[in-house]
Amino acid sequence: DPALDLSDLHKGYNHGTPKEVQVLRGVSLAVQPGEIVSMVAPSGAGKSTLLHIAGLLDTADSGHVRLGGEEMTALGDRRRTAARRNRVGFVYQFHHLLPEFTAAENIVLPQLANGVARAEAEKHATSLLEIVGVGHRSDHRPSALSGGEQQRVAFCRALANRPRVLLADEPTGNLDPETSDTVFAALMNLVRETGLAALIATHNLDLAARMDRTVRLKDGRIV
Ligand code: ADP
Ligand code: ADP
Repeated sequence: DPALDLSDLHKGYNHGTPKEVQVLRGVSLAVQPGEIVSMVAPSGAGKSTLLHIAGLLDTADSGHVRLGGEEMTALGDRRRTAARRNRVGFVYQFHHLLPEFTAAENIVLPQLANGVARAEAEKHATSLLEIVGVGHRSDHRPSALSGGEQQRVAFCRALANRPRVLLADEPTGNLDPETSDTVFAALMNLVRETGLAALIATHNLDLAARMDRTVRLKDGRIV
């Protein structure tokens, strides 16, 4: 089964009014375990809308979202919240790390909230930080880290609860080209080491071309 399977998603805003805008008009896309897919589209094309629906932060008007082969479309609130927490990780342009906690604690805390024992949570945090090359910075607070280090920690935090799908919205949008390269290399390591499926929205065509596959979002569809 694909780790992420989107089929025939439709989404409009201002439903039923004269101003209704159809942002997604039948989006279908599958991402396999261990595959990293870039999504390129102009601003306003609906990338964030698509990622939020795939990440269970928003719902489509019609169509299906399947994660790990399981249908997410009609889940009740409680199971939907649990699925959002355990099945997908989200990374944004800005890192949203908790400023008063260390890099390691930022990855430990979501696991504790999920019932994982502290020793195991710390071990997992350390191993994630090592994969992205910031193991030696684990005891620093975000403000003491460079932009690239912060974003690499943000990837680790997104993966704290071992989701099989990673969604990222312009994760290098705020970084200079050299730092973007380092962050991208770290992301590739995560995908290869964990068998994650990743869908990455980016304006950086250079980086997009280095992923396994590039899709375009155009006129509300994947082309
Ligand atoms: P992108 O991420 O590609 O820039 P978005 O998904 O953010 O695109 O937005 C796609 C379109 O949907 C835009 O025209 C935007 O104005 C509109 N849109 C996004 N969110 C809302 C909302 N909550 N209400 C109304 N329109 C929205
Ligand atoms: P922006 O793109 O303006 O920086 P964000 O990317 O931070 O905004 O957030 C986009 C949307 O996703 C917001 O509506 C926010 O409430 C929601 N969001 C962000 N993180 C989470 C999360 N961990 N759980 C649920 N919703 C989230």
